[in-house]
Amino acid sequence: MSEKVAIVGSGLIGQFWAMIFASGGFRVSIYDIDTEQVSRALALIQEKLERYEKQGCLRGSTTATQQAQLISGHTDLAECLTGAVYIQECVPESVDLKTKVFLQLDPLLSDDVVAASSSSCLGPSQFASAMKHRDRVVVAHPVNPPYFIPLVEIVPGPWTADDVLTKTRTLMEKVGQSPVTLKKEVPGFALNRIQYAIINECWNMYKDGILSSEDIDKVMKDGMGPRYAFIGPLETMHLNADGIVDYCKRYADGAYSVCQTMKPPPIQYDVPTAEKVQAEFASSIPVDKIPERRQWRDDRLAALATLKRQR
Ligand code: NAD
Repeated sequence: MSEKVAIVGSGLIGQFWAMIFASGGFRVSIYDIDTEQVSRALALIQEKLERYEKQGCLRGSTTATQQAQLISGHTDLAECLTGAVYIQECVPESVDLKTKVFLQLDPLLSDDVVAASSSSCLGPSQFASAMKHRDRVVVAHPVNPPYFIPLVEIVPGPWTADDVLTKTRTLMEKVGQSPVTLKKEVPGFALNRIQYAIINECWNMYKDGILSSEDIDKVMKDGMGPRYAFIGPLETMHLNADGIVDYCKRYADGAYSVCQTMKPPPIQYDVPTAEKVQAEFASSIPVDKIPERRQWRDDRLAALATLKRQR
């Protein structure tokens, strides 16, 4: 029989994790404090698996029906966790709630299980410090929608055992995610630190009247984005000269003088500027059309994920 993974919290991210683990052949048990949510989550998972199968973007080598059969719902936490080799917590982002949930998990953990949190910005030191089994806790932060964006940031707390990091990384690779392991907990992990650096510069260029909001987004989606879907910024440096050493010799002075004209962080994303940008989005993406636009984004990301799997 295949190994079992437990999901605690069956909202948007919990459902995606369940589908990802089932696509890799794992048995998946889902728990939620809201008992009706468990049935809703199972129905939504079934619906998504069938839709992705029809669209040709179902992951794994088994059918939607076979994958759905691997997923079961539970209203009892201990029952959900029994026999699980890995637990993925997916409750809302709140220090108090995560602390409470991990303290509930604590007496149910064994010495070799991994208890991972999906937290977007809380590190293990912020919610696991009072646990007896805090060495078994790690953050495994997905990117929405994780079914089509494979990056997972693995973030240790000060006490996380080394085997927890290696087991999490191996598991993520096994189910087709793309893990990176931070050597220590830092605010924003890796993705948001890079994302905020980009947003900061975009915000400043907009406020300084250098580019319209439409043109700022175009710089990313039609300029840097296509390249970055396949190679990262360091490889970009490497390929844009005869190696990264040559790049630094050729371009470091120029880059340094441009960077000196940048404003120092941190900047505040102020509401008046946000209102101006939102007004510019009014005809293309009015606020009441955001759900349709999200669906369009996810469909495009699904197509890109399929393309990237071909390499
Ligand atoms: P969500 O609100 O969609 O789902 C949370 C679920 O947790 C709900 O079903 C809720 O009933 C359940 N829950 C609440 N308290 C609980 C408890 N004590 N025990 C068990 N279940 C409980 O939230 P989400 O968007 O799925 O986010 C979950 C986590 O994933 C958060 O930490 C979030 O920061 C992180 N995350 C979210 C995204 C995203 O884009 N939504 C991306 C990456 C990471």
